[in-house]
Amino acid sequence: MEKTFSMIKPDGIQRGLVGEILQRFEKKGIKIAAMKFMMISRELAEKHYTAHKGKVFYDDLIRFITSSPVLAMVFEGEDVINIVRKLAGATSPEAALPGTVRGDYSLDVEYNLIHASDSKESAEREISLFFREEEIINYELITAKWVYPK
Ligand code: GDP
Ligand code: MG
Repeated sequence: MEKTFSMIKPDGIQRGLVGEILQRFEKKGIKIAAMKFMMISRELAEKHYTAHKGKVFYDDLIRFITSSPVLAMVFEGEDVINIVRKLAGATSPEAALPGTVRGDYSLDVEYNLIHASDSKESAEREISLFFREEEIINYELITAKWVYPK
């Protein structure tokens, strides 16, 4: 089983979309392994978005992500990195398909509600930036045997 990092961004919290967004992942059968409602420090924001340093939108992005609380999460499941990314939807509003979080609820390339790790390397990096090892809960989800036949 794979783990990925995801986060409901400040716009998702402020717009009251936490339940709506989480429900999609729960209904899909994805397991929640960790969750933290928190403010992101400037230092953490810069680490998380280090790949975007120097881009024109970088300063706005750091301001946005530190402006209001976020819900940081670790999801677990088979191929969950790709799947969560797919359910989140494309970055830009015109490319994000209906049925995805961004396609259904966002109209802006920056205020796009959700983050999802884009590779195994970034998932590992982002999980360890936001969570200590003991905060990631290892438990049996009783529905798993009805989600994965073997
Ligand atoms: P993601 O992986 O789909 O979240 O997209 P990226 O890794 O390319 O960008 C990270 C985040 O920066 C996005 O989710 C947006 O919040 C923001 N962002 C990306 N591209 C742009 C842009 O062209 N303009 C602005 N203002 N923000 C952007
Ligand atoms: Mg990205």
